[in-house]
Amino acid sequence: MTTRFADKSVLVTGGGSGIGRAIALAFAREGARVAVAGRSAAPLAETVELIEQAGGKAVVLTGDVTKGEDAARLVREAVERFGGLDVAVNNAGVFGAAGPVADIDEAEWRWVFDVNVTGTLLAMKHQIGHMRAHGGGAIVNVSSNLGVHRRVRGAAAYLASKAAVTALTRTAALDHIAEGVRINTVSPGAVDTPMSSRPGENAADKSERMRSEVPVGRAGAVEEIAAAVLYLASDEAGYTVGSDLVLDGGSSA
Ligand code: NAP
Repeated sequence: MTTRFADKSVLVTGGGSGIGRAIALAFAREGARVAVAGRSAAPLAETVELIEQAGGKAVVLTGDVTKGEDAARLVREAVERFGGLDVAVNNAGVFGAAGPVADIDEAEWRWVFDVNVTGTLLAMKHQIGHMRAHGGGAIVNVSSNLGVHRRVRGAAAYLASKAAVTALTRTAALDHIAEGVRINTVSPGAVDTPMSSRPGENAADKSERMRSEVPVGRAGAVEEIAAAVLYLASDEAGYTVGSDLVLDGGSSA
């Protein structure tokens, strides 16, 4: 077992499910104390229980990243509970406003941007604010291969919001690297969570679609995304700044 994050304090947003839960578990396995954040307490508590069962340390922090006061409080509470904040992973995200551009619902478009773009901005704003005053840190944002790396029909809000996350990350990385805060993005393709399923699609149909659509022949595993996030957050990635690591089985190769 490696302990790259022994005694480090890590905040993971959207840690109650899917990719975020796998990221939280992976950090805890490598020695970190993990603050698992999201809006609903019950799934967050399940993640914490899984971490504690494996001998790790974690706490639930509830909050909505679209609200500046919540984003600030998440950082404050993580620092209070663990004595600092060394790493943050902004993984909370939503898919919505599906359909052709002319038919997009305005309120849904705004919700997707609110969570994916403004949520990432507000989270980073408060995380960086703490890290630059306390010796630095590392931030990894979870974007998507859809947007900058691949284009598909019928998902303009999601694509545009994730392209914005990648651009926001690059700018934030340049703004704050001299203050010791190193910021990068991961851009997964289809990962094995409900978000990558089509409406009404069962598991067999989905795996058949993945076989034909993804060059590697399958969806990504949540652990494969977590491994990349941990690398980018680790000291081994000290020369990696403002990068966007695509993990999509060759879909955008
Ligand atoms: P998921 O299970 O739906 O996870 C999203 C998480 O975000 C949930 O735990 C949700 O918890 C949290 N969240 C949503 N709105 C929030 C808000 N306003 N404030 C705080 N937390 C919020 O989906 P996933 O597949 O694991 O996706 C995780 C990330 O990976 C997302 O950013 C997604 O866009 C990205 N991604 C996924 C795929 C894929 O194929 N699955 C591919 C590329 C990128 P609450 O609802 O309780 O708040």
